[in-house]
Amino acid sequence: MQNPNPTYHHQVTGEGYPNPNGRLLDRVALITGGTSGIGKATVELFAAEGSTVVFTGRRKGLGEALAHQLTSSGRLVFFISADHRLPDDCQRVVEAVISRFGRVDILFNNAGIVVSGTAESTSEADWFDTLDINVTAVWRMSKLVIPHMRAQGGGVIINNASDWGLVAGSEAVAYCTSKGAVIQMTRAIALDHAHESIRVNAICPGDTWVERWESEGYFRNLSAGADEKTIHADAESIPVRRVARPGEIARGVLFLASEDSSYMTGATLVIDGGNTAR
Ligand code: NAD
Repeated sequence: MQNPNPTYHHQVTGEGYPNPNGRLLDRVALITGGTSGIGKATVELFAAEGSTVVFTGRRKGLGEALAHQLTSSGRLVFFISADHRLPDDCQRVVEAVISRFGRVDILFNNAGIVVSGTAESTSEADWFDTLDINVTAVWRMSKLVIPHMRAQGGGVIINNASDWGLVAGSEAVAYCTSKGAVIQMTRAIALDHAHESIRVNAICPGDTWVERWESEGYFRNLSAGADEKTIHADAESIPVRRVARPGEIARGVLFLASEDSSYMTGATLVIDGGNTAR
């Protein structure tokens, strides 16, 4: 089927942009869970690439500080405090973006949590919390932006899954279930909206150093307080012998958000240092 709205592609190719180096110039991006980790790195990278960035999170202080820091250096970055488990918060965020900017070109569904547990040890609360934020929020945010993307002639949705959506890890039943669901949801939504120039793809990061690892001592058997250097040194089981940095994942998100991936939809981009190649 022919693209029903070829002007959208024309519009986002970079033609006529004042700065041809900005790969997301004139774009409006919405990033969920941007106060730390992969989300924060993506907020910074998208803003540097010329996008207007609206990001969300539950930690108001962190979000406002990041937005302030980036706007002080000339970027167009806005923070909205929101809990994406709540339907009203999701709606409020999308309405705020549309009322302020009149469009949403990119949605990065990044907010997510990891809880440990086998089938037996996972509590009801942890199970539903994980599915609410890791799965349901991805569907809900997609449902809310798609009408606007259709009306403006297209858009891009990127979902943060995980290599544990492709292969399982021990004692992470709720997490692995949620990330497998994200990959299938990505394919299903992509098929439904491909003809409307709405591309939907997922990333599958491998172990990526994020701030919370320090406080949680999350990575393998490391005790709380491990610093980034120690964590990298402990990553012997990963083929590239180190964990990822958040910016390395953000560059994959940028690829999927930009016209560089114009023929990709329904795909999963694996960024895992070779972890699932075995
Ligand atoms: P992180 O904890 O630094 O980031 C998670 C972000 O989501 C934070 O900003 C947090 O505030 C936000 N968030 C969580 N629950 C929320 C809610 N209910 N409402 C609004 N915001 C909420 O960790 P991260 O590793 O950067 O995680 C980002 C995404 O990357 C997650 O979906 C995670 O599953 C995925 N991921 C991470 C890794 C890794 O090794 N770090 C690997 C694969 C996938």
